[in-house]
Amino acid sequence: MASIFSRIIAGEIPGKFVYRDELVSAFWDISPRRKVHILIVPNKEIPTVSDVTPDDELMLGRMFTAARKIAEDLGIADSGYRLIINCKEDGGQEVYHIHMHLLGGERVGPFAPRHSDLKPKGE
Ligand code: 5GP
Repeated sequence: MASIFSRIIAGEIPGKFVYRDELVSAFWDISPRRKVHILIVPNKEIPTVSDVTPDDELMLGRMFTAARKIAEDLGIADSGYRLIINCKEDGGQEVYHIHMHLLGGERVGPFAPRHSDLKPKGE
């Protein structure tokens, strides 16, 4: 079955698009974690970063040039932003169609607690 992001890209369910080309599409996250929260998604459905191949390198590069353009268009290029790609369970991935989160418009904050500050499992 097509991923939720494939269905958005196909126009089957609504998405608030900010960018589209022949390789990638970008739209607002349905539940934004910062003032700006965009998802940059390859049009081709690839589940995780573990599934990419050298044939995907053009598309993977396009995700970054799209991110740069979107940040400029939304006026956050100078103040800065964070790009995040989660991979599988330990990475916190929920939707198994590769996507880059673009977060900004305000301070994004610490990106992860230091490992030494984490409680051991079971406590
Ligand atoms: P992940 O945890 O997989 O890296 O991130 C998945 C993201 O997809 C989450 O931030 C979540 O809010 C977003 N999301 C899930 N379902 C939808 C949807 O139907 N539409 C949009 N625009 N975003 C979605």
